Amino acid sequence: MSARMRLIDRTYVSLDLETTGLIPESDAIIEIGAVRFQGGRRIAVFHSLVNPQRPIPYRVLTLCRISPWEVESAPPFGALAEGLRSFVGSDPIVGHNIGFDLGFLAQQGLVFSNPVYDTLDLARLLLPMLGERSLSTVAAHLGVPTPSAHRALADAEVVKDVFAILLERLYALDPLVLDEMVRLSRKADWWVGALLAAVDEERSGALFRAGKSFRDTISLPPMEYSTKPLSGEREIVPLDIHAIERLFEADGVLARAFPDYEPRPPQIEMARAVAEALNSREHLIVEAGTGVGKSLAYLLPAALFARQNGVPVVISTHTIALQEQLMGKDIPTLLSALELDIKVAQVKGRTNYLCLRRWDTQRRAENLSPEAVQMMARIQVWLASTQTGDRAEIHLDGRESILWPRVSAQSYDCLGRKCPFYQRGLCFLHRARASASGAHLIIVNHALLLSEIASGAQILPEYRHLIVDEAHHLEDVATEQLGEDVLETEVSELLGQMRDESRERPSGLLVHLERLVPGNQELTGLSSEAGAMVAKVRARAQDFFEGLGQFIRNYTAVEGEYDLALRITPALRAQPAWSDIEISCDNLIAAFDGLIRALQKIGGMVENEPLPETIKADLASLINNSQELRRRVDSLILHPEDSAVHWLTLGRKSNKVTLNSAPLEVGILLERVLYSRKDTVVLTSATLSTQGRFDYVKDRLGLEAANELLLGSPFDYEQAAAVYLATDIPEPGRAGYPEMLSKVLIELCRSAEGRSLILFTSHAALRSVQAAIAGPLEENDILVLGQGVDGSPRKLVSRLKENPRTVLLGAASFWEGVDVVGDALSLVVIVRLPFSVPTDPVFAARSEMFEDPFNDYALPQAALRFKQGFGRLIRSKRDRGAMVVLDSRLVNKSYASVFLGSLPSCRMVRLPCGRLAEAVGKWLKRP
Ligand code: SF4
Repeated sequence: MSARMRLIDRTYVSLDLETTGLIPESDAIIEIGAVRFQGGRRIAVFHSLVNPQRPIPYRVLTLCRISPWEVESAPPFGALAEGLRSFVGSDPIVGHNIGFDLGFLAQQGLVFSNPVYDTLDLARLLLPMLGERSLSTVAAHLGVPTPSAHRALADAEVVKDVFAILLERLYALDPLVLDEMVRLSRKADWWVGALLAAVDEERSGALFRAGKSFRDTISLPPMEYSTKPLSGEREIVPLDIHAIERLFEADGVLARAFPDYEPRPPQIEMARAVAEALNSREHLIVEAGTGVGKSLAYLLPAALFARQNGVPVVISTHTIALQEQLMGKDIPTLLSALELDIKVAQVKGRTNYLCLRRWDTQRRAENLSPEAVQMMARIQVWLASTQTGDRAEIHLDGRESILWPRVSAQSYDCLGRKCPFYQRGLCFLHRARASASGAHLIIVNHALLLSEIASGAQILPEYRHLIVDEAHHLEDVATEQLGEDVLETEVSELLGQMRDESRERPSGLLVHLERLVPGNQELTGLSSEAGAMVAKVRARAQDFFEGLGQFIRNYTAVEGEYDLALRITPALRAQPAWSDIEISCDNLIAAFDGLIRALQKIGGMVENEPLPETIKADLASLINNSQELRRRVDSLILHPEDSAVHWLTLGRKSNKVTLNSAPLEVGILLERVLYSRKDTVVLTSATLSTQGRFDYVKDRLGLEAANELLLGSPFDYEQAAAVYLATDIPEPGRAGYPEMLSKVLIELCRSAEGRSLILFTSHAALRSVQAAIAGPLEENDILVLGQGVDGSPRKLVSRLKENPRTVLLGAASFWEGVDVVGDALSLVVIVRLPFSVPTDPVFAARSEMFEDPFNDYALPQAALRFKQGFGRLIRSKRDRGAMVVLDSRLVNKSYASVFLGSLPSCRMVRLPCGRLAEAVGKWLKRP
């Protein structure tokens, strides 16, 4: 092969394996597919099934559509290894997540030292806005046809075509973007770096085009931030309630715009109540059961009110799914139906936006981890097309989410008008803010709504009308946003940005400064003084956090798989060991003060030096960050507020400490800083009432002075749903419970033929039940998938929809995040009543504020969650289903009526475990 042959014209071998599982040490290969290709054309193929000499799990057989008898007659891997080795030869190997396949081959003794190209890495880099990056999704995105089953040879063919297209995309990159990526990739050992450099060399070989800069890699045209806000100062023109009601009629505009529209009296009632609340400047709380169509019921009066009064109405949601539904579907259809020309904007929390100044600092940093380099290379590609800088566009994965705060906008170090990127009209955050100014409908999330209050930041324009959907999340989000924390890693990262000596070559802003002005003795002196202070803070922070870690271990039980959490009560603060913590905190704060003074001296000195503006901005930001961090450490440890709960956590895996605080009473705060400052606040959700009353949620959310409206679902639950209560199962945690639970679940899921969602309150319980029921159910061709074990919630739900002979095991978000219309989900099982963990610091502290914490706090909170679980069952008028509760407390305890009284009226049956499966089967099969 000629050394000068273009990459795109060379010969490669694409490779794919099918296996019995994911672990090379314990699983086996069942199929090999490989394709040799040149210039995108197939030259030869290698294909064979492999006898794994063990049973193949049901989930693999369904995924690959391979029958056990097909592999029984296939050769074992040992008989194929040499054939595969000589087929691959010395050509570069291409695959999608190829490390997985090579790991299996290596386990079998077949090790390749060929160059390796991974299409997954390339897709992550070159298609930054693609969320799912499975081979089939990437192929579909690129227009490459894919087979429906996962088979090795077919997938190797797909890899071949995907690779060819991704290489072409690489060649098509803007030369400046490519140069910047090559420069970034040199900072870490990353195989893509060599590929980028080879393409760059083929194209021109010139690094960073003369006269061009980082700024030229951004696609964004500069923007004026000064959009005129809506004034809304005149008298309110009230909405015509009758006219609104007519819009919802069977022959109204909505009927013409929305497919399958039919008038729903509860929806009209809600729209009327929202309109009246806006007209009369009152607050309203509305529970609207599943199927009411509540988003249209508030959007329509909100849009008309905003238009005719020239005022903004802010609509806050909790989930991304609802925001997407409002922005992508409901609002555009509604505005087109009403022929209403109004401006709509979506604004997110500050940290969702890329901060170009912080990004610029990072891209110049010398010591970057390979993960950071990969994320930044992706962002570099994304920057060439994004208009928003919103992280949702690039679907950060777990590792990247940890790194994102380094480059996202932060309230504590935003330089605002002094920032060079702000001055150039490029700041994404301020562009988003400007787009909200002048908008009639502003869609936000609860996190932004509440973080604005917490930080006093003004991302949103002045507004007086607010609708909060998914309001049952407001207390939890307020707890997060109105609290504070300090991460141990945050301190070390901040210090590392100043001076990092952990690698061969020292790095950080102080080092950079010394290099920029080598002859300035005074600055060098100040910088070395500051460097000494960095070392001092680092040493004292280490003492402080080590002391805290030991303190946490001494005062908490150490079993279990979760992070340790320790609430700092007055009694704990009185312990002698806490005095040591306070002394070490004092020492840390004193060292921080010294460091801040040293940095400020440098700041004063470089002000008039001819240094790049970004360097001065970075220094200002480090001073701000240090002051802010010092303030939080002081407030959380030495000067805690009585109105907050304080606790420490110690990461089980990371062994890192976090200091936390949250307001004790969210309701009082919300009343003071939110409701009392607005003309109208509407809180709505499908789950706000318990036993037909709003007392609990009004108290928790502090919205006492509000009108109430409780709207049941239009679904006929008497016909659609039956709730079965197990009468003879031991209580959770008692002897015999796990065995009985698994037995009943197997029978129930067989009886429902899959089509089931089993809800847990802990991931540990979920995993142990999955281990117990998967095998027996797979014998009946029923697939068992667990949250956190078999993929993301979205992936699991889509697998249930594709193959209803599936049982999903979910915890946390599954209690309310699953929306499966039709027969694919016919059975919901609740294995344990969803009470909060009593040792949770926030829950424990808030419980102490009640005379009767169980009945007034724990019980209604769990009943709301229970109601959310029930809500997964019936998602449309035609749905039918059963819910089974395998917690005998719902039969034996007097408080059971609080749970059951919160559900819509439906058939309720109490049965021993032995009769549940048959009864559920009959209910589901009835005509
Ligand atoms: S104005 Fe603030 S958020 Fe915007 S780029 Fe500058 S520092 Fe970042």
